[in-house]
Amino acid sequence: MQRLTVKNVVTESKANGAFSESELTRNGNVEDHNIILTTNKECSFRCVMCDLWKNTLDYRVKDGAVAKQVKDALNSLPKAKHLKLYNAGSFFDRQSIPKPDTFEIADFIQEYETLIVEVHPKLISTPCFEFADYLQPQLEVAMGLETVDPDVLPRLNKSMTLDDFERATTALLERNIFVRAFILLRTPWQTEEEGIYWAKASIDFAQSIGVECCTVIPTRPGNGTVELTAPLPESLHEVVEYGIAKKNGRVFGDSWDLE
Ligand code: SF4
Repeated sequence: MQRLTVKNVVTESKANGAFSESELTRNGNVEDHNIILTTNKECSFRCVMCDLWKNTLDYRVKDGAVAKQVKDALNSLPKAKHLKLYNAGSFFDRQSIPKPDTFEIADFIQEYETLIVEVHPKLISTPCFEFADYLQPQLEVAMGLETVDPDVLPRLNKSMTLDDFERATTALLERNIFVRAFILLRTPWQTEEEGIYWAKASIDFAQSIGVECCTVIPTRPGNGTVELTAPLPESLHEVVEYGIAKKNGRVFGDSWDLE
């Protein structure tokens, strides 16, 4: 798929980001979460609405590189109970994070209570479950549900059906691994009103299959692949308020670059 923009310059010797933010935990407390954005090979799925590829490399980094990024980043971050490791792809994609690195990382985050990673639903399988068994903190897996709009999901190039998402969720929950869903607000080919409607429907679907935490993400124009129109801030507010009012789990709005 041709892209009209180019990647940013990033280096495998350094995580692409390391910062802290507060978030409501499933226990009802607002607590600090450390967040590390690792630098690694681009995700192979190439969803049309995704812009995470901009901060990725074209090649697989050597074993140990990502673990070192995480170790260095951890040293720069304050103490916290919860850690998010986001790699602009899937934590269990070995092209992105080599297997030995995942276990090395597990070894030096034993003090954390929770580890949150992002994974494509198709990559939820034995390596994920083995890692969860080895890991000291509670594992939470974030997966992109994106949208339940039947006219849009197949066009996102996500290589995922709602059945795939439900199967992955069930498999995780059966093993006591927590699940959060990323839900897009206003995908390509949706009007503002359709975006709101389908984001709410996506929260309904996620919660109906046992997802405890939903994060609503407004799409961002300018990914160079497909035309996107950023939703209005009030639309994000409306969708998140809708989800919270259901009192069926946590619902966050990720304001990213929204004014
Ligand atoms: S699976 Fe996630 S990271 Fe990979 S291209 Fe799709 S949205 Fe982007």
